[in-house]
Amino acid sequence: RRGIRGNFVPPIKSNGNNTGNTTSRNAGKGDDSLDESTKKCLEFLCGPDGELPEKLRNLEPRLIEHVSNEIMDKAPNVHWDDIAGLQHAKRCVNEMVVFPLQRPDLFTGCRSPGRGLLLFGPPGTGKTMIGKAIAGEAKATFFYISASSLTSKWIGEGEKLVRALFGVASCRQPAVIFVDEIDSLLSQRKSDGEHESSRRLKTQFLIEMEGFEGVTEQILLIGATNRPQELDEAARRRLTKRLYIPLPSADARAWIARSLLEKDGLFNLSDKEMEIICNSTDGYSGSDMKNLVNDASMGPIREAIHQGIEITKLKKEDMRPITLQDFKNSLKEVRASVSPNELGNYEEWNKKFGSLA
Ligand code: ADP
Repeated sequence: RRGIRGNFVPPIKSNGNNTGNTTSRNAGKGDDSLDESTKKCLEFLCGPDGELPEKLRNLEPRLIEHVSNEIMDKAPNVHWDDIAGLQHAKRCVNEMVVFPLQRPDLFTGCRSPGRGLLLFGPPGTGKTMIGKAIAGEAKATFFYISASSLTSKWIGEGEKLVRALFGVASCRQPAVIFVDEIDSLLSQRKSDGEHESSRRLKTQFLIEMEGFEGVTEQILLIGATNRPQELDEAARRRLTKRLYIPLPSADARAWIARSLLEKDGLFNLSDKEMEIICNSTDGYSGSDMKNLVNDASMGPIREAIHQGIEITKLKKEDMRPITLQDFKNSLKEVRASVSPNELGNYEEWNKKFGSLA
């Protein structure tokens, strides 16, 4: 059907060569305006026929390169065992994502997996870690983008970057696209105040999501948010599974602190002392625990400096271990970052829209 641009004649006759502004079938071969790293990146994405896949044509090479170098993480090094607690989330995610990516032949028809997963909850509770672990366990390529960077850093170019992102992901299947702060992209704030460019960006994003729903493509979209109540109905409909990622339990907090210290060979606390730390950190997120451990681990160094020992003369082997008192001091510095009344909002939203245990 002849569209509105049916009679349009481009002012410059296209000879099919890459001009450096957009990609073409031959991926810019023989185009001197592209630098070597861009050419390499495009070549890497070419199919067995040596041609650039349809989805990546007519995009700006620099955006494809940005997606490949900055957004794509070929080998995210996180596994289920690195994540404390969250058994419900792990079970759901395995069933919904990891198994279907590992055995696509089993998960067809009624068993077809959903393509969109929402992880919501307070900040610093392991949502990004789960995204990476999914990709790690399913041996999928991981793409991480913060939605707020699309609207702030990529002003006016967000749509093109979104096309490049989904285009590259479809060439690197199985793929997991993790969109952090997805609320800033798919929020329900409406028309008047909504900027034209962010409306277009949202539309483009939803179109791309439609594109891989139901098809045999192995792409999973994970959205993460601390503000699920901002998401509109269209977003909820596409993010079929919605998992609440709560603050860590006392056991999970102990596990996080212990494993961080053990990793550095610094763990030297008794069970009783660990219990005291756990009881004093009610309401701390996983990342608060990490900050607490980091601060407490400075205790021996601070003390040595206080005693007048020069940092250049401080011998590693002479340093005392980290004690409960270090944690007690740090507890005054590192406080919980999530307020208890925020938690009520998450629980309410979870009851209404979440995939409950
Ligand atoms: P979110 O995406 O929910 O804001 P992250 O996944 O980025 O949080 O977690 C931030 C950091 O906090 C992680 O790098 C990790 O050190 C720590 N952390 C948070 N939750 C957990 C958890 N459940 N198990 C282990 N570490 C955690």
